[in-house]
Amino acid sequence: MHLVMIGGSDAGISAALRARDLDPGADVTVVVADAYPNFSICGIPYYVSGEVTHWRNLAHRTAADLEATGMALRLDTTARRIDVGGRKLLVTAADGTEELIGYDKLVIGTGAVSARPPISGLDALGPADGVHLLHSMGDTFSVMRTLEHSAPASAVIIGAGYIGLEMAEALTARGLSVTQMEQLGEVLPTVDPELGALVHAELAAHRVEVLTGTTVRQLSRASAGGAARLRVDATAAGGETISRMADMVLVVTGVRPDTELAASAGAALGVRGAIAVDRGMRTNVPDVFAAGDCVITHHRLAGETYLPLGTTAHKQGRVAGENALGGNREFAGSLGTQVVKIFDQAAARTGLRDHEAVAAGFDPVTTSFEADDHKAYYPGSHRITMRVTGDRATGRLLGMQLFGHRHAEIAKRIDIAATALFHAMTVDAVSDLDLSYTPPLGSPWEAVQMGTQAWTRLARSG
Ligand SMILES: Cc1cc2nc3c(=O)[nH]c(=O)nc-3n(C[C@H](O)[C@H](O)[C@H](O)COP(=O)(O)OP(=O)(O)OC[C@H]3O[C@@H](n4cnc5c(N)ncnc54)[C@H](O)[C@@H]3O)c2cc1C
Repeated sequence: MHLVMIGGSDAGISAALRARDLDPGADVTVVVADAYPNFSICGIPYYVSGEVTHWRNLAHRTAADLEATGMALRLDTTARRIDVGGRKLLVTAADGTEELIGYDKLVIGTGAVSARPPISGLDALGPADGVHLLHSMGDTFSVMRTLEHSAPASAVIIGAGYIGLEMAEALTARGLSVTQMEQLGEVLPTVDPELGALVHAELAAHRVEVLTGTTVRQLSRASAGGAARLRVDATAAGGETISRMADMVLVVTGVRPDTELAASAGAALGVRGAIAVDRGMRTNVPDVFAAGDCVITHHRLAGETYLPLGTTAHKQGRVAGENALGGNREFAGSLGTQVVKIFDQAAARTGLRDHEAVAAGFDPVTTSFEADDHKAYYPGSHRITMRVTGDRATGRLLGMQLFGHRHAEIAKRIDIAATALFHAMTVDAVSDLDLSYTPPLGSPWEAVQMGTQAWTRLARSG
C-alpha cells in the first residue's frame, strides 16, 4: 500500500504521521512544493518580531525527525496532475525533471493561498518594492529581507484579521510605525464589535494607527523626493480619500483554498470553492482524500463552512491519514474555536455569534458580562469581558467570546466553553461543571460560569 500526501504543512504531515503511526510498515511519501516541511507558519509573526530568534525554530519537527518516522519526503517537488484512472501523480522536481509517482491512496493537503484584494497597482508591486503577502515561509523570508535590508520606518497593514493584528504587534516590536487599514467597521471582525473595540483600543495604546471602515483602492510607488517608498490610497466610510505614505505594505486580507490540482482531477468543490469532502475526508474522486485549508469544514452547529485553521488542518489530516490506510474515522467537526494575542491582551471565540446563530436556524440570546480572572483581593487580577450566546428555546449554549489580559487564561477559558459546546450542553448546565479554584488563580464560580449564569438570568427575565 503506497500512500502519497501532497503538501508538507499541518494537513499533509498529520496524515503521513497518522498512517505511519497506525501501520509502521506503510509506504508513505510526502510531496512538498517547498523546502519547509512541518513548519509552524502560525509562529511567523513571532519570528518577524524577533521573539523567535531563528526561522528554523519554527519547525514542529525537522526533516530528519520526519524521516525518522519512516516517511519519505520529496522536497521542492510540485504535484502537477493526478491521473485518477492510472493512480499516478505527475510531479516536477526543482531541477524541472518530471516523474510519475504511483499511489494506492492520495491525500491532498495543498492548503490555502493569500487572497489578493482588488487593489489597483497591487499586481505591479512585489517584495522588491516592499509590498508583501504573508502565508508561507517563502513570504516570510521576503518580509525579513525588506526589514533587514531596507530598514523601513513605517508600514501599512491592509487587513485587521488575526494575522494582520499579530503582524501589527510584530512590526511595532521592531520599531516600525504601523497604520492598520480595515474595510469593515471594527478590527478583528471574527468577534462582536464590542470586543473588537477593546482590541482596537489595545492597538491604539501601542501607537498603532487604526483606520476602520477604510477600503484601500490603490497602491503606488511614492513620488521621488519623499522618504517613504509607497503610497496607499483608501476610501473612508464617509467617502473621503485617505492617503498614507509607508516604506512597507503588508496585504493580509484572508486566504482562499488552493484547489486547482484537485479540481483538475475532477474533485467537486463546495463552500467558498473549497474541495468538497465527506466527514471521512474523502473527495468524490476514487482513492483521493483531502484535508486542511483546501477543504470545506464541517461545523458542529452551522454545517458546512470554510474555516482555515491550523488546529482543524491537524485533525482533518489525521482522519485522512487513518482512512487512507483503510480506516473509518470521521472528522468530529469544528466549532471555530480560536484565540489571538494582541500586545498585552487576548481575544477568543468558540461556537456561533448571535447573527451566525440566526443563520444556522437558532433563536439566540446574547449577553455581555465582566468578571475577574481570579479573586480581586489577590494581586494582579484582571477583568475579563465576555459575550455568551445561547438558544432561547432550548437553553443550549451556542457560543462564547472572551477578551482579557494575556495572563488571564483567555485561551484555556474559551476551551471550557468549547468543550461544553462540543457536548451540546445547556448554558445552565455549565454551572454544574466541577472546575478548579484557588484565589490567586480563580474564583469559586469560575469566570465562564459567572457569564453563563448572567445569560440564564437574562433569558429567564426576557
Ligand atoms: C501568519 C499565520 C498565522 C497563523 N496563526 C494561526 C493560529 O494561531 N492558529 C491556527 O489555528 N491557525 C493559524 N494559522 C492558519 C494555519 O497556519 C493554517 O490553517 C494551516 O497551516 C493549514 O495547513 P494546511 O496543511 O492545510 O495548508 P498550508 O499550511 O497552506 O500548506 C500547504 C502545503 O502544501 C504545499 N503545496 C501546495 N501545493 C502543492 C503542490 N502542487 N505540490 C506539492 N506541494 C504543494 C505547500 O508547499 C505547503 O507545504 C496561521 C496562518 C498564518 C499564515
